[in-house]
Amino acid sequence: MATRKDRLSGYFSKFETLTATEQRKIHNRKLRHIIAYAYEKAPAIKKKLDRAKVKPGDLVSVKDLERLPITEKADLVGLQKKNPPFGGLNGVTPDALGRIFISPGPIYEPGERFYEDNRWAQGLFAGGFRAGDLCQITFNFHLVPFGFMLDSSLKLLDCRTIPAGVGSTELQVRIMKDLKVTGFLGTPSFLFSALQKAKEMGFNPKKDLALKTAFVAAEMLTESLRDTLESELGLMVRQSYGTADIGCLGFECIQKNGMHFPDDCIVEIVDPRTGRQCGPGEIGEVVGTCFNKVYPLIRFGSGDLSYLSDEPCLCGRTSPRLMKIVGRVDQMTKVKGMFIHPGLVDTVAAKFNEICACQVVVTREGHQDKMTFRAELSQSCPDPKKWSEALKKVIQEILRVRGEVQILPKGSLPKEAKKIEDQRVWE
Ligand SMILES: [Zn+2]
Repeated sequence: MATRKDRLSGYFSKFETLTATEQRKIHNRKLRHIIAYAYEKAPAIKKKLDRAKVKPGDLVSVKDLERLPITEKADLVGLQKKNPPFGGLNGVTPDALGRIFISPGPIYEPGERFYEDNRWAQGLFAGGFRAGDLCQITFNFHLVPFGFMLDSSLKLLDCRTIPAGVGSTELQVRIMKDLKVTGFLGTPSFLFSALQKAKEMGFNPKKDLALKTAFVAAEMLTESLRDTLESELGLMVRQSYGTADIGCLGFECIQKNGMHFPDDCIVEIVDPRTGRQCGPGEIGEVVGTCFNKVYPLIRFGSGDLSYLSDEPCLCGRTSPRLMKIVGRVDQMTKVKGMFIHPGLVDTVAAKFNEICACQVVVTREGHQDKMTFRAELSQSCPDPKKWSEALKKVIQEILRVRGEVQILPKGSLPKEAKKIEDQRVWE
């Protein structure tokens, strides 16, 4: 059985420590290959390129992806209606599939017969899962692919699995204890429920359970919840990020300072306004391109907004990291032709220590949009005029829209106030 030291060291794949130039070369080669393949086999990909007036040979590097539009999850419903059942996105004939998954919509997703994708496996390894672990998967195996993806990924690591699925907390805790489960996979909130249930059942979670590591996803993990779980269960908790369609797009390493991009796909942060790739620190939509021949998704939007960091990580992995998810693309609001979203409003507020709450209100005056930044201050402002000017400057820089400033005393904004309140009436 792996020791704690084993769990903290090593890499799943050699790719993870290659230089950025070496990684880019491999990605460019794989991109050319999947584009050529998908253009020939998946009619929806052919159409996507043809519409953008791009030939497969034009896409030689990751940067060239900027020429293609983003396909959103919502687009799949329309594509599948026109061309059932997979909307022409399947890269093999339906009789060559292993499974068919169903997401809400319903959206039908082709699943491969032989699972070779090692991206979740990379994440699991980085989170301390090792050969010999007995792993309880509490994600769904019903209709959706995630449970199966993880089950197959754990096999790549030589782990054993218990396909427990969701719910039945008491039974799940019993299984954990009786079988001496070492690895947990599930949502952070379910792990917390299991911890509470274990205590209710009279167990000492640290002593009576053998858990060593937990892989959590599908929900936001707060640092305070992580601390509670790690200290009360005596394990480490690492999170991953991805979607059911495209698979893993990021995973935490031991340093827990953002989520590394897995190697077997291309992750871009894209400005949804222009399709341009964003640099480090710039907020945009997380967009993935995978090399899966069964279901080749090219520039597939997650709908989530985030930003990346390319600062070196102490773990030795060289990929950039996805930092926190700051919101959803559909929370964006267009003001004077520019998209703003709650994450950007918070970025403005974070520049001023004295702002304890804020809200942007968008109204219409004549035929013009008007934006007011309402800032609630923790203390009174000695020179409101000067302070407002400083705030206006930051608003212009970050939101790229000119705005008015309204200073409010502490406690004025209700807790449930929307970050962006759109009061415009359209006749
Ligand atoms: Zn790292």
